[in-house]
Amino acid sequence: MITQEQKEITKLDVNKIRIDFPILNTNIYGHSLVYFDNAATTQKPNQVIDSISDYYKNYNSNVHRGVHHLSQMATDRFEEARRTVRDFINAESEKEIIFTRGTSDSINLIASSFGKAFVRKGDRVLITAMEHHSNIVPWQILCEDREAQLDVIPIDEKGELIFEEFEKLLDSDVRILALPYVSNSLGTVNPVKKIIEAAHSHGVPVLLDAAQAVQHIPVDVKELNVDFLAFSSHKIYGPTGMGILYGKEEWLEKIPPYQGGGEMIHTVTFEKTTYNELPFKFEAGTPNIAGAIGLDSALKYVTNLGIDSIHIYENKLYQYALEKLSSIKELTFIGEAKERAGAISFVIENTHPFDVGEILDKQGIAVRTGHHCTEPIMDQFKIPGTIRASFSFYNTKDEVDRLVLGLNRAKQMLL
Ligand code: PLP
Repeated sequence: MITQEQKEITKLDVNKIRIDFPILNTNIYGHSLVYFDNAATTQKPNQVIDSISDYYKNYNSNVHRGVHHLSQMATDRFEEARRTVRDFINAESEKEIIFTRGTSDSINLIASSFGKAFVRKGDRVLITAMEHHSNIVPWQILCEDREAQLDVIPIDEKGELIFEEFEKLLDSDVRILALPYVSNSLGTVNPVKKIIEAAHSHGVPVLLDAAQAVQHIPVDVKELNVDFLAFSSHKIYGPTGMGILYGKEEWLEKIPPYQGGGEMIHTVTFEKTTYNELPFKFEAGTPNIAGAIGLDSALKYVTNLGIDSIHIYENKLYQYALEKLSSIKELTFIGEAKERAGAISFVIENTHPFDVGEILDKQGIAVRTGHHCTEPIMDQFKIPGTIRASFSFYNTKDEVDRLVLGLNRAKQMLL
């Protein structure tokens, strides 16, 4: 049930919003573009593109080191971005916001630094069966290095985490739990608050991979009481090559630096180096200044539309897409969790996802096909891959209708 208050905040003017995204006017093979590959990367509004161009045109300079005017301007904007991220996820302090290259980089940082400090031979690390490879491989590398054990919480045939199995795996040998807030290939939204509470009751800290969450769902790190949270700028309307790691200050103080170099030091002699304070201790070398400035604009753009309004609008569109896609009788959804967001995955009987994807492409419809960097999920469902349509607030019901038409055409050609 949508309340009156929700109705008030749902009023996104999508036609007006679409004007901000120049790429949405593109024609592909003579058809206007329908972009349903938002889980891979989102398109960028003029506000983001212009802020990056403004930096390079008007105040390009390195940060934190210069006394000169341009450097101070760049530093101010760079640090403003950090405060914007802090406010966006409701962190306690900007010291808890580390700039990285992306979600993968953020997870690697924690696997490496947390691993060095806390994971020993015989310890266990928990992940789930619905991970993106980015939340598998860094932990595998750590566990191999430390002779620790990687345990996987299973999921059921709907793509939901089996909570009882998770509880069975929780014991005093577990050093950390890492899991996705939202699955990139199944769309499952995990009950993360409940999971974090259960983990904490056994003294286990939690890293949330929020790569597919922050752009769809209001995320409040204090409310979740999460220990670490990772996401990528490019999936939330910002530039590529830029990521965020949130960590509770008490944890970040306890773990060693990830990489060495300029910026992350306090003093250096050949005998001994002392490290910079948070967050700079984790930011070696010249950072992605344009990336931070673009991310700042992207988060301000999203905040201006209202993440609650985005959530309501996208949820309606998602339900509409589910209903329309259900009309194709040869179509099977992969992932049917009760709570879902962002992506819908499916297969079409007796067709290969790549062939369907190619025929959609010729009609100007961009979807992703394949394993979506979640090979273990494909193994569990015994399929080579899926067709995945993933949504943004700039998508419309008309575009969903075009997808359904396109799929029917693909069916005619392939079956
Ligand atoms: N985690 C999830 C759930 C993702 O969907 C992705 C990217 O698709 C990643 C991690 C990796 O993000 P990036 O490639 O930006 O590091």
